[in-house]
Amino acid sequence: MPAIDTTPTDTTLWPGPGAADFASRHIGPREDEIAAMLSEIGAASLQDLVGQTVPSAILDADIEKSRPGLSEQEALAHLRALAARNRVMTSMIGQGYYDTVLPPVILRNILENPAWYTAYTPYQPEISQGRLEALLNFQTLVRDLTGLDIANASLLDEATACAEAMTLSQRVAKSKAIAYFVDADTHPQTLSVLRTRAEPLGIEIVTGDPDADLDAGAVFGALLSYPASSGALRDPTAIIARLHEAGAIATLAADPLALVVLKSPGACGADIAVGSMQRFGVPMGFGGPHAGYMAVRDAYKRHIPGRLVGVSRDSRGNPAYRLALQTREQHIRREKATSNICTAQVLLAIIASMYAVYHGPEGLRAIARRTHRMAAILGRGLSALAVKVETKAFFDTVTAFAGASAPLVLERACAAGINLRDAGDGRIGIACDETTTPETIRAIWRCFCPDKVRLELIERELEARAATLDAIPDDLKRGDAILTHPVFSAHRSETDLLRYMRALSDRDLALDRTMIPLGSCTMKLNATAEMIPITWPGFAQLHPFAPADQTEGYAALFAELEEWLCRLSGYDAVSLQPNSGAQGEYAGLLAIRAYHRARNDAARDICLIPASAHGTNPASAQMVGMRVVVVGCDAQGNVDVDDLKAKLAQHGASVAAIMITYPSTHGVFEERVREICDLVHAAGGQVYLDGANLNAQLGLARPGAYGADVSHFNLHKTFCIPHGGGGPGMGPIGVRAHLAPYLPGRPERGEAHCVSAAPFGSASILPISLAYILMMGDAGLKRATEIAILNANYIAHRLEPHYPVLYRGANGRTAHECIVDLRPLRDVTGITVDDIAKRLIDHGFHAPTVSFPVAGTFMIEPTESEGKGELDRFCEAMIAIRAEIALIENGDMKAEESALRHAPHTVADLADPDWNRVYDRTVAIFPNGTVAGKYFSPVNRLDNAWGDRNLVCSCPDISSYAEAAE
Ligand SMILES: *Cc1c(COP(=O)(O)O)cnc(C)c1O
Repeated sequence: MPAIDTTPTDTTLWPGPGAADFASRHIGPREDEIAAMLSEIGAASLQDLVGQTVPSAILDADIEKSRPGLSEQEALAHLRALAARNRVMTSMIGQGYYDTVLPPVILRNILENPAWYTAYTPYQPEISQGRLEALLNFQTLVRDLTGLDIANASLLDEATACAEAMTLSQRVAKSKAIAYFVDADTHPQTLSVLRTRAEPLGIEIVTGDPDADLDAGAVFGALLSYPASSGALRDPTAIIARLHEAGAIATLAADPLALVVLKSPGACGADIAVGSMQRFGVPMGFGGPHAGYMAVRDAYKRHIPGRLVGVSRDSRGNPAYRLALQTREQHIRREKATSNICTAQVLLAIIASMYAVYHGPEGLRAIARRTHRMAAILGRGLSALAVKVETKAFFDTVTAFAGASAPLVLERACAAGINLRDAGDGRIGIACDETTTPETIRAIWRCFCPDKVRLELIERELEARAATLDAIPDDLKRGDAILTHPVFSAHRSETDLLRYMRALSDRDLALDRTMIPLGSCTMKLNATAEMIPITWPGFAQLHPFAPADQTEGYAALFAELEEWLCRLSGYDAVSLQPNSGAQGEYAGLLAIRAYHRARNDAARDICLIPASAHGTNPASAQMVGMRVVVVGCDAQGNVDVDDLKAKLAQHGASVAAIMITYPSTHGVFEERVREICDLVHAAGGQVYLDGANLNAQLGLARPGAYGADVSHFNLHKTFCIPHGGGGPGMGPIGVRAHLAPYLPGRPERGEAHCVSAAPFGSASILPISLAYILMMGDAGLKRATEIAILNANYIAHRLEPHYPVLYRGANGRTAHECIVDLRPLRDVTGITVDDIAKRLIDHGFHAPTVSFPVAGTFMIEPTESEGKGELDRFCEAMIAIRAEIALIENGDMKAEESALRHAPHTVADLADPDWNRVYDRTVAIFPNGTVAGKYFSPVNRLDNAWGDRNLVCSCPDISSYAEAAE
């Protein structure tokens, strides 16, 4: 063995960085692999490949390259310093955000567990049974709490859930009125989002006191708060009856913890219930992410937006879960879609569902009762101190009138480490929660009355009257049971719960086991160092409306991230408010709309959208009241410039915007993108460039520099926020300077419209993206893009001899993804894109994007994080599948008898005593010959149509499993 040479060779004084170069860990292929792949695809170098791929017209020489990447330790130290500049207080602001305890077993085994957070949206149900079961638990939880028939999983936040309820009401109401009534005592952020949503759709928002001001005949629906923002609790039953008589739809915005002990919205007659599941274990996180919920009466189940998990059965007749009804609705219904929601809040919904599994019905009741008791004691004590308590009936929040002394009380509270809500006009809101202690209540009393002796007296008096401390009217108390399904009582010890969560995650294929080559979705590494800061109290435990002097760390983080995003995108300003890509589209189109209006150009209401666009594009255009005109694509998948010219000639003066995706949804860098931008600008329109996926251009090209006016960037794609099984996400938008005045803001401060409940959307996951950017540095980000392009071209090159690869750029290169065409094989053999997707499961892979943007194709995006070994493993699986198809092609096997049609294969197949298939069982189940580490799909192929015909969207009775077995 050669001796290790320890002679120093450095001639400079200080050693350079150690081995801790983050970019080389984020990027999959090693140097020798990069060289091998380049030579295989026939490119001399990465620069050579980029030169062949990215049109010189957009390749940007001016991008700065001056910022080096930080090490993981340096980035964490930087973020720790930012978190330290936030002050964690006892939050009693309420207003829809409450402190809560995330049980450590859920924190570590779900929120901090890549098996859960790196999963993709469950479009491939067979490999998603674990998270689908957890989501079904969520839907069951919401259904039980709301007393309605069917709940979704999930929406983005409470305010947008209310907006979805409003538009759903308009779609289904018998009343043809154009006004929507909103209880004036609704969370102000909800009112702002509703006003923003209503205006472009021509809906008039009427606010007032429901008892005094509601004219049921003049509205198509009403939103009532239960309890109200001030904490006040009133029985909505009579008002709902009045609405129904007039043919209007009644929605309750309801607090889920209150519902544990309150008469349910269903029992009150409501048609829709909406709200936030935040306080079921999800940290406030300065506003998000949290799961919004919606539940509806059975009659409206086909109108419910967002994702709905349903029970179906597999090919062996066993119950199995899947997304029901409107899976990928926007892609099918386009501008007629009911909403643009794509990414939702899956991980947070799962956490909330596990919180309910952890506590069970009696545990939740204990928490709700205790929270209520604290508020009742607080209120009674305040009354005894001669403070006027305005809320007579309430659940957890009291509003006290402090008059001129309100500022003093708020100040004393602040000094005691407590944030109360300044509700204006001398009123102070105080919200209790799961974490409220007697000491906190005493401290609040002291803020109103510092007299110690008097306080002790009052406490003794209250003790004597303990039994009467209840502020929920008898007729609003809940009479029916909740969470009777066994799942909510079966996992009460930590051992049992740990194993339940482990058993669920074991059923799923996430990034921690295999590459997920989903085109358009960029399933890249979510590095552990990026994830660590999000659960630090300095980021997790802040209320979104905490005073600004307590949130300086967040302000600095936002400023830093905005500056980076501007620098990388070529835009002048960024808004961090939209909490998904689709929300970003909506916010960007609102900015365009406001810009035209400000220039007295309000007649512009057409949005040009290429036929290949992502489905959220037309759905978002519809939400801002624009008419969608489709522009054709040429054979190469590019925008058909002649058709664009024709459409501009026809509609020029009415064109508000074009929405293009770049590189195109077909994975090609269009040569003529600058010309497209110029043509639209010349016609007076704006260019919305869908930048959801920036993975092919970061560090190479900047949309703001080559002609676009506004883009959203999905931080859950290019910038490493994990997909969480279908959320959370963040979709900030960047704009050129002329659109900056129209970015979403805080309407209550006189700023433009707002699109999310919280001013900075899902703020607490922004450290992930900042950490990524800081650790990569300019050179690392550029390198990632180059390798993403290399990996996609390598896959295209390897698959080309076996499958046609559609759409290439001028030099035969694809961008960061490639589309393989499976239609010719289907035409000859009957083997479908689904058969191949399911057969990949037998090989241990998650399928690529299926049938988008072209039906019958796969769109493959490997990302820079996959090394050559994994790319080869995938290509070999695809090639092996091609050989199986050849058997059918040659007439040696029938499609319906093939392993392809019966995939995925399960342990039930392996153990089937009656196995009589024409193909070899071992090859079917162990297609690449490896037995060790084999992933078994937990179910056979799902029957989709059956599930939609027999819609079940909450946990099925155990008996239904028994029936299936018979
Ligand atoms: C993912 C994606 C979107 C939608 O983003 P969400 O966060 O899921 O709402 C829009 N456009 C394109 C091109 C996308 O890839």
